[in-house]
Amino acid sequence: MSPKPPYQLQADCENCFGLCCVALPYAKSADFPINKDGGIPCRNLQADYRCKIHQNLREKGFKGCTVYECFGAGQKVSQVTYAGNDWRENPDTAKEMFEVFPIMQQLHEMLGYLHEALKREETQPIYKELQAALEQTAALTELNPESIISLNVPAHRAIVNELLKRTSELVRKDAVRKENTKRGSDYIGAKLKGADLKGASLRGALLIAADLRNADMRLADMIGADLRDADLSGADLRGSIFLTQVQVNSARGDRKTKLPEGLRSPAHWT
Ligand code: SF4
Repeated sequence: MSPKPPYQLQADCENCFGLCCVALPYAKSADFPINKDGGIPCRNLQADYRCKIHQNLREKGFKGCTVYECFGAGQKVSQVTYAGNDWRENPDTAKEMFEVFPIMQQLHEMLGYLHEALKREETQPIYKELQAALEQTAALTELNPESIISLNVPAHRAIVNELLKRTSELVRKDAVRKENTKRGSDYIGAKLKGADLKGASLRGALLIAADLRNADMRLADMIGADLRDADLSGADLRGSIFLTQVQVNSARGDRKTKLPEGLRSPAHWT
């Protein structure tokens, strides 16, 4: 049985002070039409913290916003860490809040992966370790702003990452094919239509614009894989692990794409 988390792992923009739209920088590219520095409110952010172009982000060139996920860090920082005191009315804390937010985002991302690991039956042998890491990470998210800023996030991430790698091995051990254990990580534009990637480790793989139509990606480890503009039409990703909604949103696909439980087809898929 997996634990019910006492925190939210998906963005709740209604309870956030538009933190991703202020704290984070973006650069003119295929994902954004202009440059913006971190700490400066996006020109499309309204006084009520809603986005003026929410319905037309892709058409207006803000594709990057449609593939961003804070994993619930926005409302956590807004409503818990700062107890509902927003940065517009409390400008003295604004800079600090914008520093806390990306750290909280990383912690919540780790919580998301650990929670997913705990849900898998295959991880019974390391259940207690995963549970302990989840509780430690959750406790870090409850710290005060000063303590959050001084956290050694890379050190904590290394501990979590080791457990996630073990999770991946346990999940894939009966499915992985020998040739899929030796795969590299650079597949930009690769032609992988119909490929057998069952149980493959695609950790951090660059799959940008790869042709993955009808590929068998069941039980694959997708953590950190860059799927921007990859074509997942007809691909089978059931049972894959550590695939996030953000990755799915950044890819192309169609009604025949099979996603793991809990993920949904984005509106821009045909
Ligand atoms: S375009 Fe909208 S969603 Fe994107 S950063 Fe600006 S306000 Fe936020």
